[in-house]
Amino acid sequence: MARKRILITGAAGFLGSHLCDRFVQEDFHVIAMDNLITGDLRNIEHLFKLENFEFYHHDVSNYVHIPGQLDYILHFASPASPIDYLKIPIQTLKVGSLGTHNLLGLAKAKNARMLIASTSEVYGDPNCNPQPEEYWGNVNPVGPRGVYDEAKRFQEAITMAYHTFHGVETRIVRIFNTYGPRMRLNDGRVLPAFIGQAIRGEDLTVFGDGSQTRSFCYVDDLIEGIFRLLFSDYSYPVNIGNPDEITILEFGEEIIKLTGTTQKLVLRPLPTDDPRQRRPDITKARKLLNWEPKVSRAEGLKITYEYFKSLPTDVIEKIEH
Ligand code: NAD
Ligand code: UDP
Repeated sequence: MARKRILITGAAGFLGSHLCDRFVQEDFHVIAMDNLITGDLRNIEHLFKLENFEFYHHDVSNYVHIPGQLDYILHFASPASPIDYLKIPIQTLKVGSLGTHNLLGLAKAKNARMLIASTSEVYGDPNCNPQPEEYWGNVNPVGPRGVYDEAKRFQEAITMAYHTFHGVETRIVRIFNTYGPRMRLNDGRVLPAFIGQAIRGEDLTVFGDGSQTRSFCYVDDLIEGIFRLLFSDYSYPVNIGNPDEITILEFGEEIIKLTGTTQKLVLRPLPTDDPRQRRPDITKARKLLNWEPKVSRAEGLKITYEYFKSLPTDVIEKIEH
């Protein structure tokens, strides 16, 4: 039987590259697409020799053309870390809006099923904890994070519209903070920031008083959740994340213990509109997908730390702030 063909956008990024690995292993024909604005070809170079993998260097905010049959689209292209989307705000808005529109058009033309990578950021600075899918969010549209949050909210709205008005088969995953190998050490997100600082022998920078919370999900658990959602028959948003919530201060202490660094935690100003709390309600994922995270933070952090330590020295020393 001919292989199913799947287009993965943002394929050279952290999550996109893990999705490429998974679908190649499942014997799909993977068409990977990326403009490399925040991604790195080294994340997928091991796949280039395979006959069921191909790569297109392309910006999906421009018209997307794929020859031949297409069965699935996973739209993961978008800057994802606060320092990235603050540096390239217009591209962030475009890939969430124009990029999503282009890919929905492609899905409609090819009769393909499309899953979009949404985010816990659609909840903004939430007034309830944990956050269920029914919560509409508390987002500042004109604050610095608005370019990402509103692009993702628009992305969900246009995806639902294509589903309702054009009958396109769509899936929406709301991803909560995910970590693991292939994150960029200097992308500014808290986990690579802390581990990078520990490895370089610098103090760990806690923003604000560190009482804000996050809930960190290991990448393998997330990929499994996405896989199950894609093959489910549910078109409304589903949270995928690990509900094990921790303050950033406690998280910093965990990283100090893990890395054995003698450096300390230092307080720095809290960025504007930084969410106070974040924890997924995963009742839906449990019920609909029979999914829940399996990897504890202790296990996941250990694997991720080993990965960062194995990087070449020039990568570890490079900081972009
Ligand atoms: P990443 O920066 O590692 O990967 C994003 C990839 O998209 C990069 O390779 C980048 O070059 C590519 N890209 C960006 N704009 C593009 C464009 N216009 N055309 C083609 N390629 C483009 O980030 P990530 O953490 O892997 O995030 C992937 C997706 O998951 C994003 O949509 C993000 O919003 C979403 N997400 C991630 C998390 C997380 O914790 N990692 C949480 C919520 C949502
Ligand atoms: N953070 C921090 N020190 C850093 C980087 C981030 O204390 O060096 C904080 C940040 O203010 C936020 C939390 O860690 O409260 C998670 O930040 P991240 O950028 O990883 O993700 P997001 O805010 O998008 O959840």
